[in-house]
Amino acid sequence: MAKLIDGKAIAKALRASVTEQATRLSEAGVVPGLAVILVGDDPASEIYVRNKERAASKAGVNAQTIRYDAETAEETLLAKIAELNADTSVDAILVQSPVPGHIDEHKIQEAISPAKDVDGFHPENIGRLYANREGYYPIANTPRGIMTMLAHEGVKLAGKNVVIIGRSILVGRPMFALAQAADATVSLLHRYTPDNLRHELLQQADVVIVATGVAGLVTGADLKAGATVIDVGINRMADGSLVGDVDFASAEPVAGLITPVPGGVGPMTIATLLQTTAELAALHHGVTLEAGWQTI
Ligand code: NAD
Repeated sequence: MAKLIDGKAIAKALRASVTEQATRLSEAGVVPGLAVILVGDDPASEIYVRNKERAASKAGVNAQTIRYDAETAEETLLAKIAELNADTSVDAILVQSPVPGHIDEHKIQEAISPAKDVDGFHPENIGRLYANREGYYPIANTPRGIMTMLAHEGVKLAGKNVVIIGRSILVGRPMFALAQAADATVSLLHRYTPDNLRHELLQQADVVIVATGVAGLVTGADLKAGATVIDVGINRMADGSLVGDVDFASAEPVAGLITPVPGGVGPMTIATLLQTTAELAALHHGVTLEAGWQTI
């Protein structure tokens, strides 16, 4: 029987640490500012943005959501981003994905100042991560949250065999860079990886991180006994329930540590977003924060 990794509890502790940091910042006259741009009325995005706003205000982060209708021109968004880049009360900017098809998402990501790129999607920040540069720069919040979770559980990646499934810029690719920087041997699998090769690689994996959006892709029969299994997937089933990319019922008896869905990686993402916002605010205003949760 695997030990469950309680993402909810770890995220709660991380949010408490961000709240402390926000208090320290406010003593220095700084309120961390997060600007969220939402284009269109995608119901899932509405929920994500509302959750981000709520968590931010509880942690002492000043979040503002700027809403645009789905027909908004790209130039309007670019002008808004330029304005936010210049606004010293805004430390962190994100554009909620997905944006409508007539908007070039890459152009939008590149318009955000790398110093305010709280999602870590700007090519400059991705380049720093891949080059394993020292110093502070924002890193995508989901993989960073996973690193925090692993550290919290005492899972060390150095020398381990890590298999990541899914190569999105949101999760898999930055996860690959982080695990490699932590001295793991890392395989990055994707939709063109043959099933038998995936199975073979998984059989040897000490740590498995799955982010595909394919419900039940990894089963207990794929896993090495005692493996640490991090399930990033969120899939809504016909009956309304949420499941991950790992078949929990068969994987849990084989794994050593496993994240549930929901209540695993999900809560870590927003908590890490707030953590990054507070760190950017500290950086912009020359305030030194005590290292507490800064695991990477
Ligand atoms: P994406 O669609 O951008 O990428 C999916 C990746 O999975 C691709 O690289 C693709 O090659 C790979 N893939 C697809 N089918 C595969 C298969 N059969 N075998 C192996 N690889 C396969 O997705 P994403 O944005 O990275 O999200 C992945 C999942 O993680 C989704 O369910 C999403 O909802 C979830 N997610 C959760 C969080 C969180 O905070 N918990 C954050 C981001 C994404």
